[in-house]
Amino acid sequence: MSFIFTVMNNNDAFYNLVNKLQPLYDTKEATAIAHEVMEHITGLGKLQRLMDKDMSFSSEQLAIYEQMLPELMQGRPMQYVLGYAWFMGRKFKVNEQVLIPRPETEELVQWVIKSQIINDKSQILDIGTGSGCIPISLKLALPDAEVTSCDISNEAIAVATENALILDASVEFIHCDFLDNAARERLGKYDVIVSNPPYIPITEKESLHTNVREYEPAMALFVDDDALLFYKAIAAFGKMHLNNDGAIYCELHRDYAVATKMLFEQQGYTTELLKDMHSNDRMLKAIPTK
Ligand code: GLN
Repeated sequence: MSFIFTVMNNNDAFYNLVNKLQPLYDTKEATAIAHEVMEHITGLGKLQRLMDKDMSFSSEQLAIYEQMLPELMQGRPMQYVLGYAWFMGRKFKVNEQVLIPRPETEELVQWVIKSQIINDKSQILDIGTGSGCIPISLKLALPDAEVTSCDISNEAIAVATENALILDASVEFIHCDFLDNAARERLGKYDVIVSNPPYIPITEKESLHTNVREYEPAMALFVDDDALLFYKAIAAFGKMHLNNDGAIYCELHRDYAVATKMLFEQQGYTTELLKDMHSNDRMLKAIPTK
C-alpha cells in the first residue's frame, strides 16, 4: 500500500495557479489573481512569499488551495471564491447576489467626495446598492452626511447591510424597484443622487468574459432594449427629488456617454462628462439648469 502525500511550497503553488488560470485569463490577470489568492491563503505579501518560496503549505492551507483551485479554473471570479473584494482600500463581502465593485466606481465615489460641498445636513441617495460599496464609502468619507441606498434585490441589501456593520458605516438601506414610478416617488429629497445602474445592453452579453457573464448578477449588469432605461428614470426622479443646488452623479457605458449626456440636457440639466483611468467616458454629473 502506498500513500501519496501532496507537498506544496509557496513557489509551486503560485506557478501552478498561474498555469491553470492561463487558459481563462491573460498572463497579467492570471498572475494578479494568483498573487491575491496566495496572499489570502498564506497571509503573506509578495515579497515575503518570495523570501519564503520553499516554505511548504500547512495541511489547512493545502485544503483551502485545493478547494479554491477548481472553482477558479471553472471561471468563478476570484472575488466570489475569496468572498470579498477591495474597494477604496476596504474589504467588502461579496457573493453572486452582488456585482463585484470595480475600480471605475472608485473614481465615481472620489468625484462625489471631491466636487460636492457636503455639509452636515447633506442627504445622499445611492440607487442600486449591490455590495454597498458606494454608499458605505461615501458615509465613511463624509460622516456628517445622511446616506440612503436602495436596491430591488433583498439579497443585495442583506450583503450591503453586513458590510455596513463590519465597516461601521451608518447607511439606511431601502428595498425599492426604482423603475416603478410609484415606488421611487416614495423616496425623499436629496442633495446628491449617485448611481452605478445596470447599463450593458443584453446584446453585448456574449462579448463579455465568462466570469462576468456566467457569475455576476444579470439584474445588476444588463438592460434589455433601452440602454438608457435607468438614466431616464434617474433624470425624471431628479427633477422632483433634488434639493436646491443638488447634483446627480452616474456611472455610464462609454458608448452611450454622449446619448446619456443629451438625455439629461433635454430633461433640463447642465452636464459634465468625466473619463475613467482608461480614458473612456465613464461618469456624468448633472445639475438642474436654473
Ligand atoms: N452600486 C453597486 C456597485 O457599483 C451596484 C451596481 C449595480 O448593481 N449595477 O457595485
